[in-house]
This record gives sequence, C-alpha cells and structure tokens, in this order.
Amino acid sequence: MDLFYKSTRNSDLKVTASQAVLTGLAPDGGLFVPSCIPCLDVPLEKLGGMTYQETAFAVMKLFFTDFTEEELRSCVAKAYDEKFDTEEIAPLAKVDDVYYLELFHGATIAFKDMALSILPHLMTTSAKKNHVEKEIVILAATSGDTGKAAMAGFADVEGTRIIVFYPKNGVSRVQELQMVTQKGNNVDVVAIHGNFDQAQSGVKAMFEDQKLAGELAEKGYQFSSANSINIGRLVPQIVYYVYAYAKLLENEEISPGEEINVVVPTGNFGNILAAYYAKQMGIPFGKLICASNENRVLYDFFQTGIYDKNRKFILTTSPSMDILISSNLERLLYLVSGEDAAKTRELMEQLKKSGSYQITEAMKERLADFGAGFADEAETAESIREVYGRTGYVMDTHTAVAAHVCESYREQTGDGRKCLIASTASPYKFAKSVLTAIDPVYEKEEELDLLQKLPGISGRVTPQAIRDILDAKVLHATECDADQMKETVKKILKV
Ligand SMILES: *Cc1c(COP(=O)(O)O)cnc(C)c1O
Repeated sequence: MDLFYKSTRNSDLKVTASQAVLTGLAPDGGLFVPSCIPCLDVPLEKLGGMTYQETAFAVMKLFFTDFTEEELRSCVAKAYDEKFDTEEIAPLAKVDDVYYLELFHGATIAFKDMALSILPHLMTTSAKKNHVEKEIVILAATSGDTGKAAMAGFADVEGTRIIVFYPKNGVSRVQELQMVTQKGNNVDVVAIHGNFDQAQSGVKAMFEDQKLAGELAEKGYQFSSANSINIGRLVPQIVYYVYAYAKLLENEEISPGEEINVVVPTGNFGNILAAYYAKQMGIPFGKLICASNENRVLYDFFQTGIYDKNRKFILTTSPSMDILISSNLERLLYLVSGEDAAKTRELMEQLKKSGSYQITEAMKERLADFGAGFADEAETAESIREVYGRTGYVMDTHTAVAAHVCESYREQTGDGRKCLIASTASPYKFAKSVLTAIDPVYEKEEELDLLQKLPGISGRVTPQAIRDILDAKVLHATECDADQMKETVKKILKV
C-alpha cells in the first residue's frame, strides 16, 4: 500500500501527502508522520553521480506519493535554481578531518532555504490537487532564519499570504533587516514583545482555534504552516543528507558501507530528525549527535529521559537555537514509543500542563542512535577562533556549537568514525558574533560595518543576500504583545 500520513496523536487519522502539506498540523494538534519510512530505491553508487535536483526527486518521490512525477519534478526545478550561489546547492567543505555540509548557499544564507525554497511550490501544487479555492495564509514563528526564508519563498506566490512573527530582541541585526525589508504584496512581519517559544505557542494556538478557522473561512482564507512541523519542510531536508553521503562516497572520502557520524546544531529538532529519517532509509549513519547551545534542554533530555522546559530562557549568539520547546521531538517520541499515539498525546499534554515529562525506559533504549552535547558561549567563540586560526575556515556561531560538540564527543567517547557537520548559516548572517570571537577588538564596531571586513577575513565573497539589505528600505514596523498575536492577524487580514 502507498505511503500515507497519520497524526502522532491519532494513528487512525489518515491523509495523503498533499493534504498533510496543505494543513501543516493535524486537527488533533499532532504532527503528521509518514505511515512508514521508505527505503532508498537507488543504489548509493548511482546517487553519487546525480545532481542535487535528481537526488531531491529520487528521495522526495518516496514521500510525496500522491504527486505525479511531472508535478514533483517541476517543484524541484523551481526550488533549486539560480537562487543558490553554487550549482552543487549543498557543497561539502573538508576542514582537517571533518566535513562541513554547507547548507547556506540559498537566497537567505541559512539552511532554512533548503526546504523553504520548495515548500511554496509543494503547497500550491497540493492546493490544486485538492481543489482548494481559498487563499492560503501561512503563519510562521521564527527564531530568525525561518521567517526570512519563508517570506522570500512565498513572496508574490499566487493564492498565498504569509505572516511571520519574530521575537523583538531575539534575532541578529542582519536577520531583522532581512525580514523588515522583504518586498511582496502578500507578506507581513510582526515583532512580538516576547521570546521564540511564545511566538511558536501563539501560532500553534491559532492553528488549533476552530472558531478562528471558521471566521477565516467566511472571508476565503485557510491557515497553513511553514514551520518545521510541516512535513513539506522535513522531507526536503532528508535530501541533503543522502546527497552528502553519496558525494563522499563518489569522491572516495569514505568506502562503501562506511558509517559516519552526523553532528547537527539543533533547535526545533527538524534538521536532525531529517538525518534520522535518512538513516532509516538506509544511509550508513552512525551516531546522530544533537548539539545544543546554553539552552540545553535537549542535551538534558538525552542524558536523563526527562524533558523539562522549566528553566531560564537564555539569549545566545546562536539565536536560531534559542528554543526550549523543540516541536519536532514529538515525531521522534512517536517512533520510539512504537508508534503509540496515546502515549505521545499523554506526554505532550504533560508538557503543555507542567512543562515537563519523562519517557519510559523502553523508549529511552530506543534513542541509542543519538548522541548529545552542548557548547556554552565561551566554547562556541573558542571553536570559531581556533578553527579559523588553524585552518582559515570561518564558520558561523550555530555551526561552531556543532564543531565544539563534535570535538568533545570524539574526546569523550573515543569514537573515531568520520564526522559530517551540518553547517547551518553563513558567517555573514552573524558577522558581529563571528568576528568578535576571532578578535575581541571588533566588539565595539557596528554589525553593518563589520560586514565589509568579512570578505578579507573569510575569503568568501559577500553574498547577494547581504548586498540586498545594505540599501533596502524598511517596509515593516508592526509590533505586538505576545498575547495579541491573534488580534494582529485578524487586523492584517481584515477579518
Ligand atoms: C533553524 C536553525 C537551526 C536549528 O534547526 P532545527 O531544525 O530547528 O533544529 C540551527 N542553525 C540555524 C542557523 C538555523 O537557522
């Protein structure tokens, strides 16, 4: 039987891939998961000779089972084109003996582009397939990178509107400028007086609000999600893990069947979950190592089996990982509970009520594929400085969290397998933190002035995304309190 999607909170609910993409979140508040994880049907040796676009098609066709070949190929072609500054789309950089999988060569120079450049096409195709006449309103909460990538992806896409919420003091200057200068007749962005978790909870509450859905429907609107709870985000992220392994094999960096470890700087648990899916599909990954910043709720979870968000929210130099509620973890819990929807629902209800939960011993045993580590602020900066000093390679703060964790994991475990590090943002996006880590003299300088210094230091030309913001006009200035998100959306949509 063809693969379909069910909710993590109700295994009997059954929808097609296109329906799952369209609705984003299941009506019971659960996340959509594939009914099984398919095995790759192309040998890795053959994948090694394929382009990113061909690999994307080979992987995604296994998940988007109700899309025709023509539909899916068209989505892939529209997504992975000249918006990326390299034909490889996701190039590998070998630095010492680790491989950095650079996922920041798209329009907004962070890894969110990998999925958000295709999601709008998956969504409009899904709308057509399901004869949806209403305008789709994308609501997104962002810790900095999703917002811009989603706005860039959906800007002026017919039949859609997008409203993004970001924490007013929780994003970098470059991230904020990228968002407030976004053009497009269908885009809005709102700064909330609160943190990312509040933005995400506010958005989730609107998705679950049936009364609001009714009011919107009368005006011809329906909500969908561009956050990584949407399966249309997760599936495209599997592609680059398959691609990276196949390229390492093709380039004879590894031998057939050789296991490698993967280290992923983690916030909402979407990127690392995609690596886990890739492993389930047959890619020989060893440990999937979850790297946290000082908001180390996931590290603690992997150590103890207890998830506890009742702690201080810390603003760090890796803001896209400043998250205490990792929403995609629900998909992993569902898998390690043996697809037990009742158990998953119970844990999620506990999280909502008390802010914590504990998984069973049996579930904990099934987490053996994962490792975990964290880097504090000093370790993150040291990692940037040290790797730069030794090799000349400049990485961003998020990637540096992973690089530190990679190193300490090796020391602590003696695990000598080769490592693939997901490099999630361009150093240009976090210029001040990156340069200050290399040399504290930069601390006093303006972020925007520092952008001029990066080409010389990093040997990377200034990306188009940065040139764009330097002289762009600010087009958005809406702000609201965290408890006013719903009213703000109604005002924007004139409902
Ligand atoms: C979003 C983001 C992350 C975290 O990814 P998750 O899928 O949420 O775990 C890490 N680094 C950067 C630069 C990001 O934008």
